[in-house]
Amino acid sequence: MVNQAERVLSGPALWSAQAHMPSVLGRQIVIERAQGSYLYTANGQRLFDGTAGLWHANVGHSHPELAQAAFLQMQTLETYHIFGRYLNDKAVQLGEVLADISPIADPKVILNSGGSDAIDVACKLARRHWQAEGRTSKTLILSRDFAYHGLHAFGTSIAGLQFNRDGYGTESLVPETARISTHDIAAVEATIAEIGADKIAALVAEPVQGTGGVNPPAPGYLEGLQRLCRENDILLIADEVITGFGRTGDMFATERYKLEPDLITFAKGVTSGYAPLGGVLVSPCIWERFYRSGDDTPIFRHGATYAGHATACAVALRHLELLEEEKLLPRVKELEIVLTDGLRQLERLPGVADTRVAGLLGGISLAEDISAERVTDALVDEGFVTRPLRGNTIQISPPFITTDDELRDLLGAIEIALSNQDGKL
Ligand code: PLP
Repeated sequence: MVNQAERVLSGPALWSAQAHMPSVLGRQIVIERAQGSYLYTANGQRLFDGTAGLWHANVGHSHPELAQAAFLQMQTLETYHIFGRYLNDKAVQLGEVLADISPIADPKVILNSGGSDAIDVACKLARRHWQAEGRTSKTLILSRDFAYHGLHAFGTSIAGLQFNRDGYGTESLVPETARISTHDIAAVEATIAEIGADKIAALVAEPVQGTGGVNPPAPGYLEGLQRLCRENDILLIADEVITGFGRTGDMFATERYKLEPDLITFAKGVTSGYAPLGGVLVSPCIWERFYRSGDDTPIFRHGATYAGHATACAVALRHLELLEEEKLLPRVKELEIVLTDGLRQLERLPGVADTRVAGLLGGISLAEDISAERVTDALVDEGFVTRPLRGNTIQISPPFITTDDELRDLLGAIEIALSNQDGKL
């Protein structure tokens, strides 16, 4: 018997993310290579990637065109920063392409390294906006119950999953945040009235909540948020880190749900994870003040060495072409039908409490006596990666290149795993 101390010492030095370390040590799954929708582990197992990693590998893994784009760019210019007068050509080009496809008209584009970064920027910029407007009491950021916006300081502070906020000694790591109801617009209205709109800078919302359990918006909910933001001078930030670049079948979920946000955060799907890149689309009502000529024009004091990283931008540019060339957005719409049908079948099982779908995002909530964690573990043994989410939910979000049969096989494997687990919590 290997005791826990030996297990720790013999385990990797690498500290896993979001893991209860004693539970994962000795059972970690090391991915060595991947092709398309399949992963290959260090111990020789082939796994279907039913979650596209962390909802990011949209075009599938190890695409040669993207490897080539990175290789060519690194031989030309690995990167150059974009502080002050300096820019690099690939960041400029990506800005133009993103502005062209942005649901926000005439946006400016801020680039950084991922989703948590993008959230930090959007929240800082929202607060900076109201300070510059002279409405200095507008500092608070609202977010939804069950929301996930990454785990940097702002993401931690606006998390709607309480366990991500706990343990830092104050109610909120960054002060001045509050939660709103995820489904009930009347309750949101009451919260805004209670706090006072004169204190609220922005409201952040994932159009479809991901980590919170794959929760598409209740009918009228997002429209209600939009209205309340307009009526109360609250900036609306759509967090499209998961939904951006096709996950719901439109380029942005903002389009699917006809939202008009002031800021859109994006990451994952801009490169399908081939390079760490994220950013924010910013509407003119915010950026204009920072572009007006004048000595007293404010500076937005934000930036990082890798903001607009040239290699990441070159990969993003080729990646956005691939989405078009491989017709992946219409494909998501086709797969949504297959997923919807499959989930409807699963709903008949006694082990399934509820299913939800929006584009190629699916959630299966299990009955109380079956553990999503155990089912997802059992599925790995059968060759399928899924993930347990809040609400005893199983995440389904394979790459856009998945075939109908592969998606049906995944759902079939879930059905078998559920019948094997019946009553075993
Ligand atoms: N926002 C949403 C909606 C997310 O799902 C995530 C990550 O899953 C983030 C932000 C944070 O992104 P990242 O992990 O790239 O920092």
